[in-house]
Amino acid sequence: MKRKLFSLFCAVLLTVGIFTPAGTPAEAATTYYVKVTTNSLNVRSGPGTTYAIVGSAKLGQSFKYLGVSGGWTKINFNGTSRYVSSTYVKKYSVSTLSTTSTAKMIIPTKGTLTQKYGPASGQYGYTFHNGIDLAAPRGTPVVSAAYGKVIVSRNYGAYGNHVMMSHQLNGQTYITVYAHLDRLNVVTGQTLAKGATIGTVGNTGNSFGNHLHFEVHRNSYVYSSSSPANSINPYTMF
Ligand SMILES: [Zn+2]
Repeated sequence: MKRKLFSLFCAVLLTVGIFTPAGTPAEAATTYYVKVTTNSLNVRSGPGTTYAIVGSAKLGQSFKYLGVSGGWTKINFNGTSRYVSSTYVKKYSVSTLSTTSTAKMIIPTKGTLTQKYGPASGQYGYTFHNGIDLAAPRGTPVVSAAYGKVIVSRNYGAYGNHVMMSHQLNGQTYITVYAHLDRLNVVTGQTLAKGATIGTVGNTGNSFGNHLHFEVHRNSYVYSSSSPANSINPYTMF
């Protein structure tokens, strides 16, 4: 993040400061599916009406989601990658929980560290950088650092498009922040596995160049432009 926008952080504080996640520490594997929402749906060999119809799906049938291509959704149809119109399917996720908990987080994007956590010059309006900046090309996937729940996913203020997640790791609550995203792929309330794609690297908000600004906070989200507040160095979590 570059620059301070105090009102933003007050607003964010109000939003997430008292959030307490439910449930027990767990790891989850998330799989995405689509459910057919029309009576009869053509299944095609490729993403478009010019491709051959190779089958038909019925209302309520579910298929494993494999991705999108324009207005077409790629599904696993009888073991083969096929396409259906995205208009007539609804995507949903299934998380499989296990009882094990992993204390560590993973680095949420492949990038180059361009600004460390710690004291800063003040040239961007803050004298303490409460996260790390990882520069990467626009569109590079950003993933959840740990299993947890999405508590914020929106475009707002200095963070631009950003996601906040709440995690329970060995009985401790952590809040992670992923800022300046190009795309947001998750919505508030979703539960995500560690490593699930939440968005892509971008340059939104008060950002100068494509990068991910990533923060880790203990217990709740508290921001200060001049001290760590309750942020911690993300590298202590990896
Ligand atoms: Zn930053």
